[in-house]
Amino acid sequence: MKLCRYGSHRVIEPPGALPQGAWRIDNTPRAYANEILIDVEALNIDSASFRQMREACGGDPSAVGAQVLETVRTRGKLHNPVTGSGGMLVGRVAEIGEQLRARGGLAVGDRIATLVSLSLTPLYLEQVLAVELEVERVRVRGKAVLFESGIYARLPDELSLEVALAVLDVAGAPAQTRRICRPGSRVLVVGAGGKSGMLCVAQAREAVGAQGRVFGLERTAGESTALLLREGYLDALIEADARDALAVLRAYTALAGEEADIVINCVNVPGTELATILPCRERGTVYFFNMATSFTAAALGAEGVGKDVDLLIGNGYAAGHARIALDTIMERPALLAFFQRRFAAPQPV
Ligand code: NAP
Repeated sequence: MKLCRYGSHRVIEPPGALPQGAWRIDNTPRAYANEILIDVEALNIDSASFRQMREACGGDPSAVGAQVLETVRTRGKLHNPVTGSGGMLVGRVAEIGEQLRARGGLAVGDRIATLVSLSLTPLYLEQVLAVELEVERVRVRGKAVLFESGIYARLPDELSLEVALAVLDVAGAPAQTRRICRPGSRVLVVGAGGKSGMLCVAQAREAVGAQGRVFGLERTAGESTALLLREGYLDALIEADARDALAVLRAYTALAGEEADIVINCVNVPGTELATILPCRERGTVYFFNMATSFTAAALGAEGVGKDVDLLIGNGYAAGHARIALDTIMERPALLAFFQRRFAAPQPV
């Protein structure tokens, strides 16, 4: 077999595809020479995917577990066929393929989080141990394969597994936010009270400085948005449904007056493209981290309202993203304490 650094040697259907775009991949639990085999402990499922499964299963954790097993059985990976998204996993290195051993930096037994999506990661599940609805996490027994091109982070000793997983899952968002926000920028974060939203708000605050403004939007205010306001990361919060574009525009305009330079979408539901585009100024930047975003709706939506804005697709990877995401909470004690409370308590069923 000819081994490919991107893992195309594992693709079954359709032939010639790369693993992410493939319908089905080979999940045989062994490491080929250019692969790393992982003993999987937990799957941190992408928020859009988890919400879709939870709703389809009527909130029944065991039905969500069965759905996870079924998807992995049919596709060889946890690639949600409805949302197209995956998530990431944590586990211990079980075997390092012979071609990768010289690379160093990793040893059998190390605990790592994969930073490539579950939508392309060969996964073999023996058992679902617990579905933790509140934190969108599934504890499992199984094996996964990381390709030669796959990126990972060794989990820091200072953080619990659960918190590190939660943060690393959305690591691309704070890193990208830091790049696009400038001193003095006016920023709106849609879905500010969620996991990625909170990290983006904190990074935006630091990047825009005292002259800039950071607004958040959530359906309803809660503990997370109260924290963001109290810590001064958010200047103000808008309560609105992000699926209602005109209501969002009205509420934003009433509060902020001027249009935003940058609007960042961190919600986990579809149908929020125009609510993200409308509050943005001409030649401003709209950043869609939300996986439930439709490229068509965003592109045609912007055209339809005559907005010349730059539309950014949320790349899950940015250089240094894992360190930036982890530092975002480790340097902010209130944020760290919130993530520890929110994500550390498992609710096994
Ligand atoms: P999360 O923690 O669940 O946060 C989503 C937030 O959006 C929640 O606060 C939620 O509030 C809010 N929200 C949902 N519907 C809303 C509405 N109609 N109006 C206003 N607010 C609403 O999710 P996350 O883990 O941060 O993930 C956010 C998105 O990033 C997801 O779509 C996920 O798939 C995506 N993602 C992208 C990448 C990438 O590489 N681009 C990687 C990982 C994740 P409630 O809790 O009240 O519903």
